[in-house]
Amino acid sequence: MRTPLVVANWKMNGTLAGARGLTAGVLDGLRRPRGVEVVLCPPFTALHVVGELLSGSPIALGAQNCHWESAGAFTGEISPAMLVELGCRYVVLGHSERRKEFGESDEHINRKMHAVLAAGMTPILCVGETAEERRQGLTFATVEGQLRAGLAGLRNAAIGACILAYEPVWAIGTGVNATPAQAAEVHAYLRGRLAEVASKEVAQRVRVLYGGSVKPDNAGALTAEPDIDGALVGGASLNAQGFVTIVKKATHKGVTVLRGDS
Ligand code: PEP
Repeated sequence: MRTPLVVANWKMNGTLAGARGLTAGVLDGLRRPRGVEVVLCPPFTALHVVGELLSGSPIALGAQNCHWESAGAFTGEISPAMLVELGCRYVVLGHSERRKEFGESDEHINRKMHAVLAAGMTPILCVGETAEERRQGLTFATVEGQLRAGLAGLRNAAIGACILAYEPVWAIGTGVNATPAQAAEVHAYLRGRLAEVASKEVAQRVRVLYGGSVKPDNAGALTAEPDIDGALVGGASLNAQGFVTIVKKATHKGVTVLRGDS
């Protein structure tokens, strides 16, 4: 059974004080999560303080991006080794905002995948079609191309250590989420392609998250789909109470997320 995972992507939001408050709120709401794993991905500037607050807790720290080189003349970039030093265990890669706004290509993303794995962290590879691609019937072709390019050159064991996120671009930050059926169809397709790229066993092991306007009121229905193994949450992760509710809804049925000793 794959343990659900809920990842908070804070994007470029928040002061250090805000990051402290948000982290404290999440920790307070999720003191002993069971049957679910949780990752917070603050901006680079807040990684250190959030990492200190999360230290000793079951909630992990992640980054929103990194470079593929370990050091050198790459002004403005952050290396995987730097993230490891800060306690990061996960890195979001290939987010559509990075692809669109910063020109990240499949090749860049593939290099990052290799570098993050080599540094001992878990990459969260995002794939997803635009509204136009969906209209043209290119959803499967788009996500398959991004998946195959992102995983190129990785051995099966490495692929088994990755996490995928299906994030339809038209659903990110729009308030219009994919329906559970729409998302489930793409998740099943991705799992089928994973079996081809790696093996059936790897495909069954890899968690495939859904991202795109996940909110407290739709998280339960989305993550109830058997092929949806949790959520990558943007806007709604900026509210501690709302995020905690999403985590609880994504938790395996029959398992309780305990708050404190209650
Ligand atoms: C995201 O940034 O990955 C995302 C899914 O954003 P939102 O939840 O705001 O749609």
